[in-house]
Amino acid sequence: MNIVTRFAPSPTGYLHLGHAFSAWSAWRRADVFRLRLEDIDATRCRAEFAAGIVEDLRWLGLAWDGEIRTQSAHLPEFQAALEVLRGRGLLYPCFCTRAEIARAQAAPHGAEAVYPGTCRHLSGAAREERMNAGAAYALRLDMAAALRQAGALRFFEEGKGWIEARPLPFGDVVLARKDTPSSYHLCVVHDDALQGISHVIRGEDLFEATHVHVLLQRLLGLPTPVYAHHRLLRDAQGRRLAKRDFAATLRAMRAAGVQPRAILRQFEEGGAA
Ligand code: GLU
Repeated sequence: MNIVTRFAPSPTGYLHLGHAFSAWSAWRRADVFRLRLEDIDATRCRAEFAAGIVEDLRWLGLAWDGEIRTQSAHLPEFQAALEVLRGRGLLYPCFCTRAEIARAQAAPHGAEAVYPGTCRHLSGAAREERMNAGAAYALRLDMAAALRQAGALRFFEEGKGWIEARPLPFGDVVLARKDTPSSYHLCVVHDDALQGISHVIRGEDLFEATHVHVLLQRLLGLPTPVYAHHRLLRDAQGRRLAKRDFAATLRAMRAAGVQPRAILRQFEEGGAA
């Protein structure tokens, strides 16, 4: 079997050692290695970070195959996927502001920030009235209806085996909003299929999101790849590396004279954690 993997960073900052580990983890397993820039959120992504990511990966020596897939250049494709879900009666407009959602969630029922479903209950007439009045809205997935249509779901996680996908705790996830025409969940699922990804290798911080991804794959008629979520690199205090940790960015390391070979050797030896 041809193993096709990908690295799919969001250009909201420069790459740090944690990203390098993720890219290397996918690259080392690949017969075909794809690069994708997940830059749908125009409020957070910047072209200079996208260029920096490409430059840093080249410096690191992790070569990818074929064209770079830049999501912002493909909005009509994501729109078409949204239309499929709308056609199945699974989307509804949500007019709630963040403040309204926070208030509705004030009831003490655990830490999950799940949308209480306020706008799911609006009548067709009420929806139309608010849309005609120009109210901003997001599109949410009707999770209960989606689960009824999807039936039983599962995915294969390397090292763990088959796992039942249970997206219900995510509630009615947002799949599009005014300033971000499609969501991470929808785009990732669409593009993994489009790029023929057989193995999704990414950080364990995205493990839970897989439950939603498997549901969307089923609803859109897309294949479910094999998943492998890797450990996250941590700093000396045991905290996850984040974009704020400038010292760990690849460009800071390059400026300090660190050799890419040394970074990759550390990964091979199971270090850098
Ligand atoms: N774009 C996501 C991120 O930078 C990763 C997506 C994925 O690997 O599924 O966190």
